[in-house]
Amino acid sequence: MSKNIGRLTPPSDGQEITWREGVLEIPQRPIIPFIEGDGIGPDIWRATKMVLERAVDKAYGSSKSIAWLEVFAGEKAKEEYDEWLPQDTIEAFKLFRAGIKGPLTTPVGGGFRSLNVTLRQVLDLYACVRPVRYIQGVPSPVKNPKLVDMIIFRENTEDVYAGIEWEEGSTGAAKLIEFLRVELGKRVREDSGIGIKPVSVTGSKRLMRKALQHAVTQGRTDVTLVHKGNIMKFTEGAFKEWAYEVAKEEFGDQTVTEAQLWDDFEGKLPEGKILVKDRIADAMFQQVLLRPAEYQVIATTNLNGDYLSDACVAQVGGLGMAPGANFGDFIALFEATHGTAPKYTGLNRANPSSLILSGVMMLEYLGWKEAAEGITRAMEKTIREGGVTQDLARMMVPPRAGLGTSEFADKFIENL
Ligand code: NAP
Repeated sequence: MSKNIGRLTPPSDGQEITWREGVLEIPQRPIIPFIEGDGIGPDIWRATKMVLERAVDKAYGSSKSIAWLEVFAGEKAKEEYDEWLPQDTIEAFKLFRAGIKGPLTTPVGGGFRSLNVTLRQVLDLYACVRPVRYIQGVPSPVKNPKLVDMIIFRENTEDVYAGIEWEEGSTGAAKLIEFLRVELGKRVREDSGIGIKPVSVTGSKRLMRKALQHAVTQGRTDVTLVHKGNIMKFTEGAFKEWAYEVAKEEFGDQTVTEAQLWDDFEGKLPEGKILVKDRIADAMFQQVLLRPAEYQVIATTNLNGDYLSDACVAQVGGLGMAPGANFGDFIALFEATHGTAPKYTGLNRANPSSLILSGVMMLEYLGWKEAAEGITRAMEKTIREGGVTQDLARMMVPPRAGLGTSEFADKFIENL
């Protein structure tokens, strides 16, 4: 039985997920901490929890179930703890190793840049993973959305997201501008704000390792490095070089570069190998629209990944349909990729699919394949039958009203 974590009392009939010699051990009733989230969070979490529980029950009856533990962040944490991100929440995610969260408001003037970024950094969740796949029946602005079947691995802890920046006119900015001029001979306008873009060997290599491990275990045949190394040589360009080093040094038997493909294999990828290639970020935005079938796994730096994943997701139904997860070495946090959509708060109008599909990723992580597949099938059936929320319904031809969040969840559960 797990002990209390500060003010949190874990369910007494649940068990902790453990790692033994690099292998995840999942009990029959794992304790899973969840953050309901702000704005539309309560609406979409209610729907998601119902779907996940029913899917697990359908797949395993009484032999498996989830013991939920509510933990707090955002507005609810401010009410309960008078803090935006209590230490109890961080400790619970560390102890129980897999959790799920709804969207969180970024507090204005709360001392946090973003609660999401803070959570990723304090838990060292270094790989943000976003699968982008088309579900039949979802309205799309492109002609052939079913060609989109990608998974994006975005470095999650560094780059311009590291939060190292100084406002124009601040002492910090002035000191740095002076340092750059005097010590390094670089001129920056005095009325500039300054941001730092750190990209490390450690951060780049561990991200690439995760992307390649995924490609190997899932039988994917290409991994594309997306970077802007032609301009930012020692950050973006170095990311590319270090990622290629991982492919060569740690996955040499399984990978082939584009140069080797043409020099040694006449352009035909040998059976069982993974093609590792790279694309410059701006060109890649074109590629994912014009030749999406040529990209299966993408590994990229933080800012590129942020932009690219939303652009890819636009082809398959938009933010309401996009799942995501943040992985560290022995910890995972699954989350809706969109924000709190404040204008829909409490209106029962938001699409819960992003959080439901993030729940599918969580079930896959637990190895509960049957339950995950059950949800995927039910999602496809529900949408095929025209069961969609307003974000998708309004894009259909002709546009229609769409289901409320809870009506969508009811229809979904009938299809499980
Ligand atoms: P947002 O909350 O993602 O919403 C932008 C728009 O996307 C909404 O107005 C809505 O579009 C659509 N949308 C997003 N999720 C939807 C859903 N589930 N169902 C239907 N439509 C959905 O972005 P934002 O307005 O820029 O940010 C609001 C707050 O969320 C901010 O405080 C921000 O910091 C925070 N945020 C949190 C996260 C996170 O927790 N991971 C991520 C991003 C932003 P229409 O208006 O066209 O209907």
